[in-house]
Order: sequence, then structure tokens, then C-alpha cells
Amino acid sequence: MPDKKKLSQLPSVDECLKSPYGEEWLNTYYRKIIVLSIRETIDAKRQELLDDANPDISMDAIAADIEKNIIRHSEYRLRPLINASGVVIHTNLGRSILSDKAMENIAAIARSYSNLEYDIAKGKRGKRYSHIKNILVELTGAEDAVVVNNNAAAVLICLDTFAKAMEVIVSRGELVEIGGSFRIPEVMKSSGAILREVGTTNKTHKADYENAVCGNTGLLLKVHQSNYKISGFTQEVPVPDLVKVGKEFKIPVVSDLGSGCMISLKPYGVHDEPTVQEVIKEGADLVTFSGDKLLGGPQAGIIVGRKKLVQKIQNNPMMRAMRIDKMTFAALEATLMQYLDEEKAIKHVPTLRMLTETGDIIKKRVKKIFNALKKSVSDKAILEVQPDQSRAGGGSLPEADFPTFVISIKPHNMSVNALEKKLRLGDPAVIARIKEDVLQIDARTIQDREIKTLVNCVITSLST
Ligand SMILES: *Cc1c(COP(=O)(O)O)cnc(C)c1O
Repeated sequence: MPDKKKLSQLPSVDECLKSPYGEEWLNTYYRKIIVLSIRETIDAKRQELLDDANPDISMDAIAADIEKNIIRHSEYRLRPLINASGVVIHTNLGRSILSDKAMENIAAIARSYSNLEYDIAKGKRGKRYSHIKNILVELTGAEDAVVVNNNAAAVLICLDTFAKAMEVIVSRGELVEIGGSFRIPEVMKSSGAILREVGTTNKTHKADYENAVCGNTGLLLKVHQSNYKISGFTQEVPVPDLVKVGKEFKIPVVSDLGSGCMISLKPYGVHDEPTVQEVIKEGADLVTFSGDKLLGGPQAGIIVGRKKLVQKIQNNPMMRAMRIDKMTFAALEATLMQYLDEEKAIKHVPTLRMLTETGDIIKKRVKKIFNALKKSVSDKAILEVQPDQSRAGGGSLPEADFPTFVISIKPHNMSVNALEKKLRLGDPAVIARIKEDVLQIDARTIQDREIKTLVNCVITSLST
């Protein structure tokens, strides 16, 4: 039989709010969250009484439960986590993390008024894109530049501006899909351009483009094979040849580079990723790329190229729907500025730093984590330092291997999957990978400031 007396002793929402606990909560948390948490807690206690579970219904016990609920409801849904997967540009985990300079500039611009669209020297309205143009021109060697929300938008606005109801010639080897929703044939369809496929999956020749050109050709589009490779008996038409065709028929050549690498990665073992500068030099009329892939900046779509064409894009009414926010400008300008000194960029732009980090540095980090763990959990799991491979991710550099070091963990008292889940559901979440029935923590994507927290997360997960 449910304890009627105890049921009647449960406090009301109002009584909880007016208690000394309530006053303290109201100082710290949001009222609606507090009320919701009180209701949830009282309902739960009532249910326990009805189930004859004999719960503690002292005010202290109820308050403790309420507070737990308040804290849970007060957490942001979007929150930081530790990426132990070794995938540097992890699309599911926010792609690039920003440099300190970018973070500082976002804070400075976001909390103040700014000259976003104001020309301070002239004392009148200025242009939103003027702030970013000079540095992009300087870094890429292009004549002009403009920025939109992401690279998908950059490609879309190029198609809309130059090829509406016109044909766009693309090689069959370059009809890519990026992360499920960006597929060249579908982007083409939604832009109102007509896809004119040429060549075959493995081979496309210059003559294929020449033969496909007609009075209704709007663009020649080259799409970088960002996230896949075609190997074996293959042939693609390099940009300089495409530019020759474009010149002959007076049709602009657009190169969708995707990743947007601005520093040659050859010294780091990546040989087939063209830089933006190279493609501009080869004569592409427009080049589009992402801000948050290899560039290591905020989400953005950058378009650089011939002044006349960039101006035409800027005058497209669709621009307004794709324009970027001042915080993006702040992060992008600060990121780009660091590229004026390649050494500094590699050191301070996290994506570049992580991709170019040597085995020695990663090994040091792995040892630090390993030693801290060994002290506390060597009785709970087999721990080892092992060489492995990291990935660039983000649909970039699909074939490139980045030799790394991992800590492999094989727990004694739970499955590897259970450990993976515990780490993932921890606070903060740690995203690790499983390989051949051990859990791996790849030190390449661990930030030095995260090491202590990471170690605690692993200890907690193995102990409970
Ligand atoms: C990533 C990528 C895109 C899409 O860029 P977002 O910035 O994700 O919108 C388009 N084209 C290529 C070739 C890409 O690699």
C-alpha cells in the first residue's frame, strides 16, 4: 500500500522555490529550468512512493535531486568534446578548431560595434567584403575575392551567376559527392544549370571538353577529387589545358578545389593536393574552396579569381542570402593573416599544426598520457603505446597516411565497446576509435591543454 502520509508530505513547487535552496537556485540558474526540475523531481518521488520504493523525502534529499536535474537541464546541447579519433578535420566534430588569434578576434569584434560595412576614412557606408579582399589577393595571387557561407554556396553562386539555364561541362570522373548532401549533379540541378557530362569515369581528354562546347555552354567546371582517388588507367585534364579550351571558346573555367590548401604539403608527404595559388597561376578564372577544411579557419566558402567575374558574383542578388557574419570575417581574417608567415601558420593554425606534426612530438604527447594512465589504471586494463595512422578527414587527402602514435587500451572487466561508450557519454565526451578489439586514443588530435581532462575521463570510465 502506498504511504498516504508520506505522499501528503511531498513539498509543492512553490515550497521548493521559497526554501533556502530555491533562493540560491534562483540566483544562479534560469527560473523555467528550476521549475521544470522541481516538477520532475517531485513527480519521480511520488511515483517511487506509489511503487512502495520507500524513497528519502527529506527536503535535503529532494533538493539534491532537484539540483542534479537543474544542472543537467542547464547544460548547452552544443558543447566541446575531446577528439581522440585522430581524424583532424572531422566533419561530425566541427571540422577545424580555430587558432587563438581567430578566437581573440571573434571576441573583440562580436562584443563591440565594428566597421563591418563602414568606411572609417571616408565616414560613410563601406563594403562588407573589402576587409577580406586584400589579404586573399595577397595570399593567392588572384585579382579579386569574395566570401560566402560555405563552399557549397560558393559553387552554387558561381553556377547561378554564369550558367543559369546553360550547360556546365564536367568530367565524369569528377561528379563527386561530399558528405552525403553535396553532390555535383544535384547541386547543378538545384542551381538551374544543365550538367553536361564528358569523358568516362577513369579517362577524360581535352578533346572531350572541346567537342562538348556549344553556344549554350556557360562554364567549364573542374571539381577536385577531394575525398576519393581514381587510380590505374586514368587521365584527367589538367587546369592549364582546360584554360586553353576556355580561352578558345571564351568560357570561364571554375575550379572547385574543396579543401583550399594554401601551403604546399609536399614536405609533409602529401604530393597531390594542389594549392590555391598554383591553380590561380595555371589560369583558372575562379577558384572556390572551404574556410574550415585544410585552411583551418571558420566555416566559409571562398571565391578568388578574375575581377570582372568576382564583381558579377557580388552583384548577384543571391549574395545577400549567402553573406557571412561578422564573426566569420573576424575568424577568417585572423586565420589568413597567419599565412603571411608559413612557419607561424604551421605552428599556430591548429589544423595545419596537427596535420604536419612529426612522430616525435606526437610520441611525447602519447607518453605523457600513457604515464599518467599507467599509474592509475594498470590493474584495470592492458595499456600500450603503438604506432598507427591518422587521417586528414573532412573529405581531404583521402589517400594520405599520417603516421601517429596511439595508446591502446584493452580493459579487463568490460568490453572494448562498453569502454568506448563510457568515454563517449562522459563529461566531457571523449571520442576514441576501436581497432582490432582494442580502444585507441590517437594523440595527434589531442590538444595539450586537454591531456589532464582526458586522463581523468579514461580513469573514471575504467573505474565505474
Ligand atoms: C568539401 C567540398 C565541397 C563542399 O564544401 P563545404 O564547405 O562543406 O560546403 C564542395 N566541393 C568539394 C570538391 C569539396 O571538397
